[in-house]
Amino acid sequence: MRGKLVVGNWKMNGGLAANSALLSELIAGWKPLPSRQIAVCVPYPYLAQAAAALGASPIAWGAQDVSEHASGAYTGEVSAGMLVEFGCRYAIVGHSERRQYYGDTDAGVAALAAGLTPIACVGETLAERDAGATMAVVLRQLQAVLAAVGANAAKLVVAYEPVWAIGTGRTASPEEAQAVHAGLRARLAQDGAADVALLYGGSVKADNAKALFAMADIDGGLIGGAALKATEFLAIARA
Ligand code: PEP
Repeated sequence: MRGKLVVGNWKMNGGLAANSALLSELIAGWKPLPSRQIAVCVPYPYLAQAAAALGASPIAWGAQDVSEHASGAYTGEVSAGMLVEFGCRYAIVGHSERRQYYGDTDAGVAALAAGLTPIACVGETLAERDAGATMAVVLRQLQAVLAAVGANAAKLVVAYEPVWAIGTGRTASPEEAQAVHAGLRARLAQDGAADVALLYGGSVKADNAKALFAMADIDGGLIGGAALKATEFLAIARA
């Protein structure tokens, strides 16, 4: 049976003092549950802080992006090998905010090669959903990731994040999300990766997480805004 994974994406929020308080609350409040894991993806400068705080806890940590290159003249980039040195287990790749503002695509190979688990994000815009193109868009995005990772598809985590639901307070209904997840899982199964964790992301809150996570193909969530409050994030993680 697949377990549940709940990952917080702090985005460009936080600071040493605020992080310290949030991490302490998470550590104090998280009572491990069978088949349930939680993680936080923090801004790069705070990876050392996350590693120091979470190292002895069951909470994993990761980054919000990773370079496709191993090293070299790529100003501003951070490699998978560097993230591993800071104990990262995860790296989000292809988040819609990175695609929209920074032209990112569907990387992930470098993360896998370094032993990180990429959390590969897919999701349609509102215009694409209204045009009935949701499945075509997410399958095209997933196809690009699968083509990149080749035989390693089973090592991915995939997050379905409808762009219109991120940070907007609008969320896909459990049925809408499940329909997309079922299609993604069917495609993953063709590459021997039917059991990858398929997360839903987009305005998940404590009051809607349980219904979403109860769906057959939703294996947890990628949580933005609600990951910045320990009580809210922990409630989602337990949902
Ligand atoms: C995200 O950033 O991946 C996300 C899902 O954000 P939010 O939960 O705020 O919609």
